[in-house]
Amino acid sequence: MIHVTVWNEFLHEKDERIKRVYPDGIHGAIAQMLGRYEEFSIRTATLEMEEHGLTQEVLDWTDVLIWWGHVAHARVSDEVTDRVVARVLDGMGLIVLHSGHLSKPFVKLMGTVCRSKWRENDEKERIWVIEPGHPIAANLPEYIELPMEETYGERFEVPAPDELVFISWFSGGEVFRSGCCYRRGLGKVFYFRPGHEEYPTFYREDITQVLKNAVEWAKPSHGPKPTLGFCEAIEKVEDKFAGMDDALKKHEYITEAYQCGSSGQQ
Ligand code: ZN
Repeated sequence: MIHVTVWNEFLHEKDERIKRVYPDGIHGAIAQMLGRYEEFSIRTATLEMEEHGLTQEVLDWTDVLIWWGHVAHARVSDEVTDRVVARVLDGMGLIVLHSGHLSKPFVKLMGTVCRSKWRENDEKERIWVIEPGHPIAANLPEYIELPMEETYGERFEVPAPDELVFISWFSGGEVFRSGCCYRRGLGKVFYFRPGHEEYPTFYREDITQVLKNAVEWAKPSHGPKPTLGFCEAIEKVEDKFAGMDDALKKHEYITEAYQCGSSGQQ
C-alpha cells in the first residue's frame, strides 16, 4: 500500500467559474482519480487547515506528497515548508504540479528561482514523451494532447533535471521541460507541468496515468541511511594519529582555533 497525500491551496475553487470545473477542489479530483487504484491509500490536505493539514504525523504517514499551489505560496509557513523538505530528504516522494514550481518547498529543494514564461490564452499543449523507457512513461501514448491549457515557456529556471521525461509544445510556439525528475537526499521529486485551474486536466485518464506512474516512481525506496561526519576505518589500517590526542584526529583543534579567533587573538 502506498500512502499518498494530495495537498491543494484550495482558494481558486471559491470562485464559481473554477468551482464549476472542480466542484470538490483540485485535490478532490486527483484523490478521486487516483483513489480507483487499490494500491493507493489517499488523504487530502489544504492550506487553510491547521498547519496546512501537514502535521508531522501526516507527513510521517505519507509516502508521496502531491502539491498544487498558485496564488498563496507566501502563506505556506516556513515551519511546514522545512518539515516537507526534511521529509523529502529523509525519503518521502514529492510530486509538484503546474504553478507549484514556485511553491516554497520546491524552490527550496531546487535552490533556484524556478520562474518561467507564461500566458493564459486557451492554447493547445502537446506533451511529448521523450524517455519512453522511464517508469513515469509506462502505458502512455507517444504524446498527450490537451486541447486547452495555460502556456508555459522556456527558460524554466530550474537545475538541469536528473531525468527529463516530457517536453511540451504549445500552439503559441513555446516549448517547456514539463516532466522533470530530481533526487534530493533519500527522496525523489517529480515536477509535472499541466493542471491550470480553469481546465479539467486532472479528470483525464492519460494525466491520471502519469500521476499514478509518478507516485510509484517517487515512493520511498527505504535504502540505507548514510553515515555522515567522522568515522573509524572499517578495515585494519595504520592510524597516523596513534598515540596523539584524539582531538587532533577529529580536527577538533580547528574548532578551537576558530573560537580563539572570534574572541580576539592573544
Ligand atoms: Zn496556471
